[in-house]
Amino acid sequence: MICRTVKSKMPDLLLAPESVAADVRTHVESCADCAKELHELEATMALMDGWDAPEVSPYFDGRMQVLLREEKEAQPAGWWERIRARFAYGEKVNMRPLAAAALALVLAVGAGLYEGVSTHHAPPAQATSPVVRDLQSLDDNAQVFQQLNSMDQQDDNGDGANNL
Ligand SMILES: [Zn+2]
Repeated sequence: MICRTVKSKMPDLLLAPESVAADVRTHVESCADCAKELHELEATMALMDGWDAPEVSPYFDGRMQVLLREEKEAQPAGWWERIRARFAYGEKVNMRPLAAAALALVLAVGAGLYEGVSTHHAPPAQATSPVVRDLQSLDDNAQVFQQLNSMDQQDDNGDGANNL
């Protein structure tokens, strides 16, 4: 007996156990997974029953049985699909913190990459200052003066003016 086959019989097991084949009931008794699912469905049904809480008329049980039978015969798939949709919606709600965490991770990685770009860009500007100091010690060289002048011009345009 395949679990999927048994699980498709779950509503029948709850609403009309006598209509379910004996081997399905035997499987649920021996399969922990199917027993758990049946128990959860039972709990959901109990919750729905408690939430509905209608005033019970003398004929309620009889009418309810007729309605359930009609509903079951009219569209058994629809009934089951509505319960499944309920579970699916629950899963979506649980997915939202995960999605938020994924987004945070993407933002953190993005910030890290930006940090990497900016720190990678910064060192060359700092690295020029020892070179500039070395060149300043050789101020009798005309070429060095020219280089210093060109660096002064670059520094005027850039952010390294304090290095000189
Ligand atoms: Zn099973």
